[in-house]
Amino acid sequence: MNLSFDNTEIAFKGKSNSELNRAYYLFKLIGNPFLVKVGDVMTNLAIGAGIPIGWAIKGNIFKQFCGGETISECARATKILDAGGIGTILDYSVEGKESEADFDATKEETLRTIRTAHNNVHIPFCVFKVTGVARFSLLEKVNDGIPLSDAEVEEWQRVRTRVDEICALAHDTGTPVFIDAEDSWIQNAIDGLTNEMMEKYNRDEFIVYNTIQLYRHDRLDFLKKSHQTARQLGYKSAFKLVRGAYMEKERARALEKGYQDPIQPNKEASDRDFDLALEYCVEHIEDIAICCGSHNEASSSKLARLLDEKGIARNDRRVYFAQLFGMSDHISFNLAHEGYNVAKYVPYGPIKEVIPYLIRRAKENTSVKGQTGRELSLIIKERERRKKA
Ligand SMILES: Cc1cc2nc3c(=O)[nH]c(=O)nc-3n(C[C@H](O)[C@H](O)[C@H](O)COP(=O)(O)OP(=O)(O)OC[C@H]3O[C@@H](n4cnc5c(N)ncnc54)[C@H](O)[C@@H]3O)c2cc1C
Repeated sequence: MNLSFDNTEIAFKGKSNSELNRAYYLFKLIGNPFLVKVGDVMTNLAIGAGIPIGWAIKGNIFKQFCGGETISECARATKILDAGGIGTILDYSVEGKESEADFDATKEETLRTIRTAHNNVHIPFCVFKVTGVARFSLLEKVNDGIPLSDAEVEEWQRVRTRVDEICALAHDTGTPVFIDAEDSWIQNAIDGLTNEMMEKYNRDEFIVYNTIQLYRHDRLDFLKKSHQTARQLGYKSAFKLVRGAYMEKERARALEKGYQDPIQPNKEASDRDFDLALEYCVEHIEDIAICCGSHNEASSSKLARLLDEKGIARNDRRVYFAQLFGMSDHISFNLAHEGYNVAKYVPYGPIKEVIPYLIRRAKENTSVKGQTGRELSLIIKERERRKKA
């Protein structure tokens, strides 16, 4: 197998010259740690003071990393991705809400994404975060087994009903749904709900996917145990494998509260467990479906190689690769070009509400020790190729 992610012509086929230039200036800007820090502080201050800043964001960072403000505005992103053989995963990225009305609204919006996917073959999955439909401090209590008040028991029942409604519609429409992984101190509560949903809705098909964060040192073991339990109870396992997005926060909290850091000792350990998880899932592919949610080239190549070695068809519906919109197009488009299943999260929502998501993306693309980031190097390479052509 000769899989290469270097073909920038394939990677940026969907981008016009002006879009490529916009991406170039944006990644140059967010490559600067000082500017990102200042931008983060200023944005939070502006939001706190009620200053409308949507106009400043909409034309650049929002356009790079989000599909739009509504489902219908994402149609353009879906079309571009589909032209490269890539599916869309509509991701309603509103975060930090805490009222019952907001939780109901997020549930309704997630149901709309499922109905949209049901009518559109270019949308292979849906996704949601449990914190979008539940109060964070309630999840913490459930996580730690702290007794709930009568009102909280009712509140928890409403959370369970929302999650069940989403998974039931996913099941009835045959639309697989990812449940994102979050902070370790609420993850037991999320896992409990997810396992319940898997047991209920994964009897015949891979519908509900749990997310496994391999930057945690206990998760490879958790993955194997989840699979064994599913086998014993007679349902199918489906996992989205990721490294994990909240490392600094996890480490800082563990240090502050004086418990063992849940994160692996170093990057190599996260990489090792991620690749071992890929191997385990492919070895047990008869009753496991996976989505490799990663921008890591070595892991993506590894999974592609494993499929070919085991004689698993590249378009086998049990195996998907996924990246985030606006990032790692060189992986997504080249994998799809080679016939593998690929989809991208397309985040959307009102601009002001998706700012925490955008700040995470900016920080992720900030350069370390002044090095040019991977995204920027690829954009520079493609700009030069186009100039010569
Ligand atoms: C489709 C998709 C869905 C996702 N869903 C989720 C989700 O539900 N929940 C979630 O938490 N994240 C999610 N993520 C984000 C993901 O967890 C990673 O933060 C991000 O993808 C970067 O990791 P990587 O595998 O792409 O590659 P890399 O760039 O190779 O790895 C970076 C990651 O390695 C780990 N790491 C870095 N340094 C160290 C260190 N010193 N010690 C230990 N580990 C280290 C961290 O997890 C870091 O994010 C998702 C990503 C994608 C693409």
